[in-house]
Amino acid sequence: MARLEEEAEQADRDDPLTAARQRFTIPEGVVYLDGNSLGALPRGAAETIERCVRREWGEGLVGSWNEAGWYELPLRLGDRLAPIVGAEPGHLVVCDTTTLNLYKALGAALSLRRERRVVLVDGGDFPTNLYITRSALAAAPGAPECVELEPGEDPLARIAALGDRLAAVAMSHVSYRTGAMRDLAAVTAAAHRQGALAVWDLCHSAGAMPLELARSGVDFAVGCTYKYLNGGPGAPAWIYVAPCHLAECEQPLAGWMGHASPFDFEPRHRRHPGIRAFLCGTPHIVSMRGVEAGLATFDGIDLAAVREKSMRLGELFRRAVEAARLPRVELACPADPAARGSQVCFRHPRGYAVVQALIEQRVIGDFRAPDVMRFGFAPLYLRHVEALRAARSLIGCVEAEVWRQERFARRADVT
Ligand SMILES: *Cc1c(COP(=O)(O)O)cnc(C)c1O
Repeated sequence: MARLEEEAEQADRDDPLTAARQRFTIPEGVVYLDGNSLGALPRGAAETIERCVRREWGEGLVGSWNEAGWYELPLRLGDRLAPIVGAEPGHLVVCDTTTLNLYKALGAALSLRRERRVVLVDGGDFPTNLYITRSALAAAPGAPECVELEPGEDPLARIAALGDRLAAVAMSHVSYRTGAMRDLAAVTAAAHRQGALAVWDLCHSAGAMPLELARSGVDFAVGCTYKYLNGGPGAPAWIYVAPCHLAECEQPLAGWMGHASPFDFEPRHRRHPGIRAFLCGTPHIVSMRGVEAGLATFDGIDLAAVREKSMRLGELFRRAVEAARLPRVELACPADPAARGSQVCFRHPRGYAVVQALIEQRVIGDFRAPDVMRFGFAPLYLRHVEALRAARSLIGCVEAEVWRQERFARRADVT
């Protein structure tokens, strides 16, 4: 451990992102390894939201839709997020939730492949993705079939086998549970070879690594803003539509904010020609100001440096924990940092209680049923020495069986 300690201290001294921590308010003494569930509070967020409430709402009243730029805010934030995910401006909008945006993206993709009967998903994906995909397919003309990839199965082989029956592939880039990362460009290219489309969920990638949506030829993508993008609890999500599809595709949830001219109040829907078509109803303005503060934490940040630091943080943690050879603790993510996102996870049969015991020691990770302890590494605000402190706490909790204390077994609503 001493050698790892020196390595961590050196890594902190060499860290090009060290100043970015000042952009956040993090409680003293907390090691926060749950930025993959809810990003930390950006320093400017309270002021930005307060200004929105007191000045824009309180003084500007309804005039703020024009004067404070509320009407344009979903598009403006989309353009601000675009470089973080490698998208072209004008093709990404911030709105609704990831769940809803996935429904819209799938409906839009299917509107471009009406003759095709199958959508390929990852059977181990985040449950909301599976639920909403099935409901989007049930509502689409001809109710295409939802085919699930088995755990560990190669998507490229399955895509080739489905051939011209395949309408779209819809999966998460990084698994919420194990952190395993798919080859986004290769899966997208394989779908395209069959004339199918690629719909990606980037909840666990956006803000944690460089992404190239445009260059990879991704057709549709969605993601949230409250994980690595630090937009705040329940902050609106985003949706991306490739330029080649934007004019042609249908948006299955036609609402007035996606109309070509909402304030003409026409009884029939006429789709907006641009990315605004992917809005449904009135945008969540106060929450959007949180997204604005979250995106500001990325100003001037090199995403290649973010990825490099993320791998280094995760590796320090993984190596320290694995070196301890803890009983009943198994690595649950790929050992190769290049094959995973920005989280490291371990299985333990009593993982929930272990995580609760760690939280009491102010090391905050989380638990995903049935037995996965998740530790997310948000490179903008974590230090390498904290990754090691977390490893030491985990080792201590398991070796001394601290987790056996009864209070750690009580399940809260949110795990
Ligand atoms: C976080 C996350 C979601 C959350 O969806 P909401 O609509 O915001 O509740 C969905 N899918 C994946 C893969 C996620 O990681």
